[in-house]
Amino acid sequence: MPLEFLRRKPNEAPAAPPPPQAAARVSGNALPEEVVAQEHQLRLNFAGKTSEGVRMKAGPRALADLPDMLVGSAKSEIEVIEPLPIEFSQASPTIVRPSEAMQWLNAHHALSPIGRHALVVLESIDAVDLAFDTFVCALLDGETDTSGYPEYNAVVGGVAAHWDEVTGDMIVRGVVGWGGRGVRGDTDRVGSRILTGILSNILASQYAMGLTPVERPAVAHGQGGVVCAHCGFQSAHERAFYCPKCGMRLARG
Ligand SMILES: [Zn+2]
Repeated sequence: MPLEFLRRKPNEAPAAPPPPQAAARVSGNALPEEVVAQEHQLRLNFAGKTSEGVRMKAGPRALADLPDMLVGSAKSEIEVIEPLPIEFSQASPTIVRPSEAMQWLNAHHALSPIGRHALVVLESIDAVDLAFDTFVCALLDGETDTSGYPEYNAVVGGVAAHWDEVTGDMIVRGVVGWGGRGVRGDTDRVGSRILTGILSNILASQYAMGLTPVERPAVAHGQGGVVCAHCGFQSAHERAFYCPKCGMRLARG
């Protein structure tokens, strides 16, 4: 949890007292021994869980089945978020890095508030990576505010799928996340219960072959790779053998 920067460093020295000359110059307005400081702090808490993967046969046909795996769990419309092409390979929900943030907004401004919130939470904790994941998401528990954004204790997520670079099978895993300006003790338990339900839905798919460890492809963000001859998708993923978007084998030049 990246909260370290909010804490005082243990070896941080207190501010040095002003040199005598400086003190003399402000003699009419003597600096107190210790500054009376007003504290400001924000604690953001993002958390999530991913399940084991389920190996699917029949490749691309299984893609169309992903939204069905959320039927019964989803408390909002189910949204399919596809892998990002090369022009968005640096996209990141980090507002202080304007070029990454602009790519991220350009890629995701049309999503629902729930989809954007889910990506902020799950990308920040590295639970999904749109360089190779297809992410199907919805609100799974809790409420949204009046603008439609999930509250900090609402659980969002669904299933994420990618293509196994060795076999070309599709690997699907359950992903849930929550967080924001607050934390509640029971959200973790609610998230676990929902994840169990999603995993059983994945295993119930007609294409499911059984549980498998998730080995996510190594992504080289950079020049990018091959253009898919089947769907025209240009992957940001140089080493891909299977198109991240449609799952067909990429022809290599
Ligand atoms: Zn393709």
